[in-house]
Amino acid sequence: MIVSIRDVSARCASCGGTEFRQLDAGAVRPATRMACVQCNSTTTYRELLDSIGEEAMRRANEALAKLKKNSPRRRKSRK
Ligand SMILES: [Zn+2]
Repeated sequence: MIVSIRDVSARCASCGGTEFRQLDAGAVRPATRMACVQCNSTTTYRELLDSIGEEAMRRANEALAKLKKNSPRRRKSRK
């Protein structure tokens, strides 16, 4: 399975793979153990979600920086 929120997918910390398989039976919970299908390194669903959050934050900051750069004075900000 690919763990993703919107267009951000969780990546394996070891190999960068995005495909994981669930090690614990049942519904996926934050504590559910996940294994990378490529290198078999294990993590948890919570960690994968955390990494998505970090990536999303990084992208948001990047987009914001780009926005500021591209339109330095398109509209004066009101206070
Ligand atoms: Zn991996």
